[in-house]
Amino acid sequence: MESYENLTELGWTAAFEASFDSLDFPDIWPARVVREDRGHFRLISEEGPQSGKITGIFRHHAQSVADYPAVGDWVAATSTDRDGLVRIHAVLSRFSAFTRKHARLENQAQVVAANVNTVVLVSGLDNDYNLRRMERYLTLAYESGAVPVILLNKTDLCDDLESRLAEVAAIAPGVPLHACSAQNEEGFEVLMHYAKPGQTLAFLGSSGVGKSTLINRLLGYDRQKVGAVRESDLKGRHTTTHRELIRLPEGGMVIDTPGMRELQLWADEKGLQNSFADIAELAAACRFRDCQHQQEPGCAVRSALEKGELDPVRFESYAKQRTELHELKERLTYGAAGAERRKWKEVSKIQKNFKKRWKK
Ligand code: GDP
Ligand code: ZN
Repeated sequence: MESYENLTELGWTAAFEASFDSLDFPDIWPARVVREDRGHFRLISEEGPQSGKITGIFRHHAQSVADYPAVGDWVAATSTDRDGLVRIHAVLSRFSAFTRKHARLENQAQVVAANVNTVVLVSGLDNDYNLRRMERYLTLAYESGAVPVILLNKTDLCDDLESRLAEVAAIAPGVPLHACSAQNEEGFEVLMHYAKPGQTLAFLGSSGVGKSTLINRLLGYDRQKVGAVRESDLKGRHTTTHRELIRLPEGGMVIDTPGMRELQLWADEKGLQNSFADIAELAAACRFRDCQHQQEPGCAVRSALEKGELDPVRFESYAKQRTELHELKERLTYGAAGAERRKWKEVSKIQKNFKKRWKK
């Protein structure tokens, strides 16, 4: 049989082979999940690209959400002539996985990217630069089982690279450290070393550090622009073009999913609590548990501000970061268009309340 794909180039290894050989299903073949959209999987295998879904038995035996196939997973598939979709019988043992708390199901972990070899922790050398945040990403990376690499982007905006490199090396001993300017196309080629055929990369870092630009550089074209055109055809279904394993022209692969962005959110939330522990402590004494520290009665934070016990600059910085997190959460939950609609709803609600008050 002629095959469309070379499994090794897709990341197939002896360990997956062993996991596959231990399975006892008739007529199965190995396939890798390149896209997932609400239970609908896009697979690639020696048979070429295919669409599939899990079997009822799989669903029945799954112990938790984390057992379901995720982007990057290797699965055992069979064909069916019923609906043209292949059936996924099993997920092969993962060597690495990025998990996060499930959005709705409590105490359930969800895999957002599987079988990532190298996770590139990207930081911008502009005002985003933050060593504490880098430490949090490093922890996430180690928890995943992927090998971390640190990449400091935007060298064109930094005039003291040497001391930055020394600072980062001090908090991340033994972690490969690189610097580049994705914009000026300087130094990003170092990524090619981690993106050899059969290797899977993922990027982790706050919004705005240059992850998309780096992926575009590796791809050789602007993925967002292409994606935007596709999305406008799909009428507002924003997530579909993002949750995927992208193949690079040189043979490696990159996983880019909104789930990775949620990991950042998670890291940032933990970080917000840690880096503003003083404000969190004050907020515990606010009358309302969900106090926004605006005009609410019994607000301990505002009272500390008024008494001069809390630096207003520090509070500003906290409020700004919290708003950013809130917006990111909205975007992830409702999609870009949905978040915009909700924002306007909120604005009109505020206006209505304002008018009501005005009338009184
Ligand atoms: P992402 O949110 O991490 O995916 O970040 P983007 O790739 O969207 O980049 C955010 C902004 O930073 C964009 O305006 C990019 O043009 C800019 N940017 C990316 N890399 C560099 C760089 O090396 N130098 C400078 N000056 N800007 C960059
Ligand atoms: Zn308060």
